[in-house]
Amino acid sequence: MARTPLPIRSHLAVLGPYGVTRDELAALLADEPPYRVGQVWDALHRRAAWPAEMTELPMALRERLAVALAPALTPVLLREADGGETLKWAFEAEGGARIETVLMAYPDRVTVCVSSQAGCAMGCPFCATGQGGFVRHLRSAEIVEQVAWATRERPVTHVVFMGMGEPLANYDQTLGAVRRLHDEMGISWRRLTLSTVGLVPGIRRLTTEGIPVNLALSLHAANDELRNELVPINRRYPLARLAEACADYVAATHRRLSLEWAVIGGVNDRPEHAEELARFALRLGAHVNLIPLNETDGYRAPGLPRAAQFRARLRALGVNATLRRTRGQQIAAACGQLAGR
Ligand code: SF4
Repeated sequence: MARTPLPIRSHLAVLGPYGVTRDELAALLADEPPYRVGQVWDALHRRAAWPAEMTELPMALRERLAVALAPALTPVLLREADGGETLKWAFEAEGGARIETVLMAYPDRVTVCVSSQAGCAMGCPFCATGQGGFVRHLRSAEIVEQVAWATRERPVTHVVFMGMGEPLANYDQTLGAVRRLHDEMGISWRRLTLSTVGLVPGIRRLTTEGIPVNLALSLHAANDELRNELVPINRRYPLARLAEACADYVAATHRRLSLEWAVIGGVNDRPEHAEELARFALRLGAHVNLIPLNETDGYRAPGLPRAAQFRARLRALGVNATLRRTRGQQIAAACGQLAGR
């Protein structure tokens, strides 16, 4: 019997296994028994299996799907740190774009940090990705596939959009990925975290979506003068407007806001910075995550005692603050530092 041609093959081959809708998969499997659609769909989403590994399928079908649903990302580097508890991939995507993904295993969770863009247009001067400039937006399929690659190593419980790029600057593709991770991979809203440097229109739009994901604001400075320098988009969306948008998000979703603060030696780690941050955080009922900077050109790490002092000061001011262990320092796990090598 002649095989049904693959009507959308070239389109699928670019998008990879997670660029296919269930209807497109059904069209692709039109000459197979109907139960195959659910079988392949579940294998892709629940096991993160590539078609060649779906031994429950006949060999000829496996081979056909291995071509039609080939991964869109090619791992070009995989580094391990923290005794195998941290894994970091550099992938090559269509057109040669380099992106990175980090898996961090903790006793109670496995978190994957995904990229939403290749490069980033936000230009934060302390960030290696920002210095490299913007390459292109990622498609939602490419974002979901990063989680699949990680799932193949460990069962992923949490996904944070804190890799390369500004997720809300690639709004539709990011939201497409978030919905697929929730609807098809079974990751609950509360285990999905979108980060932003403060794109107020994106936060406003997210507030109306009815999906209570966590919001993490990369704050880094709580006065406009310093923030204009560290996070240039602050000139367009200054702190007062940003705080208002975040407060509305929290009120609408009942999710706790977290504030990310890259502690940069001598730049944002002084007592007055802690006081400004405390005022901002307390007003929004936010939790603060302090992340000692992985050194980049011109910006230095704070040193652990100094970062701990900063946290102690915040706590004394009544702020819920955590000092994050910098994962994978040996493998350059700060945003954008691996893909650039
Ligand atoms: S810190 Fe985030 S938003 Fe800023 S340049 Fe780097 S990737 Fe972009």
